[in-house]
Amino acid sequence: MYLDVHAHLDPYFFTEEQIEAAIKNAEKNNVKIIIANGLNKETNRHVLQLAKKYPQIKAALGIYPWEAMMDDVKAGHYKEESINFNPDEELKFIKKHKNDIIAIGEVGIDQKNEHKTRKQFEIFEKIIILAKEIEKPLIIHSRKAEAEVIDILEKHQAKKVIMHCFSGKKALWQKIRDNKWYCSIPTNCTRSDHFQELIKFMPMTQLFGETDSPFLAPQKDQKNEPANVVETYKMIAKIKKMELQEVENSLWMNYQEMFL
Ligand SMILES: [Zn+2]
Repeated sequence: MYLDVHAHLDPYFFTEEQIEAAIKNAEKNNVKIIIANGLNKETNRHVLQLAKKYPQIKAALGIYPWEAMMDDVKAGHYKEESINFNPDEELKFIKKHKNDIIAIGEVGIDQKNEHKTRKQFEIFEKIIILAKEIEKPLIIHSRKAEAEVIDILEKHQAKKVIMHCFSGKKALWQKIRDNKWYCSIPTNCTRSDHFQELIKFMPMTQLFGETDSPFLAPQKDQKNEPANVVETYKMIAKIKKMELQEVENSLWMNYQEMFL
């Protein structure tokens, strides 16, 4: 069986019917667990609803790097209201729902457009402290700030960490390995040398598969869905020269280690 440790099944991208269909497809493909990640007030509440409705969906609540979210609003991906919330209130909400969630995510730092304010860093540090307090793994987004993200996590001695779609340089991969953190490999690894190299580098005991649905699909311009996580597993099997079943078993053991 397969696990998708990072997906977004937001109303921005999927209608109720499309979510229902995606869940059915996942089931058909033997994808038994899907971790739906929240980004803000609106999606966090939606994630909780999904987890209540579908037993295969597990909830992760998060606060996406604030200014990167603002860029997405400008690009028309999200509505203006999606950045209108108080991060401290949202942290309280996450804490209140600690028994309903499996992880904290998606959280992290994004400096893509050279966002220079301290706000992202302040929120991120508060989130790491909360994750330790409520003993939940962190699902991390880092873009153009990979070294800083690793430094902050090390400073707080974060133990349960999944680097989602890690695009940092090879020199940083060793740090992830040494810290015994995990990399979740997105389905676009089918067309990315970077992720194929990352699979080669990381031990089996530190890997997961993810879709980041609706993004990062195996084929360019395809809308991604959890059923496709199988493609990541196949790529891991090919690179590690293992049977698919062995990869399934390994990643299931990783899941138990990390989340249960
Ligand atoms: Zn994501």
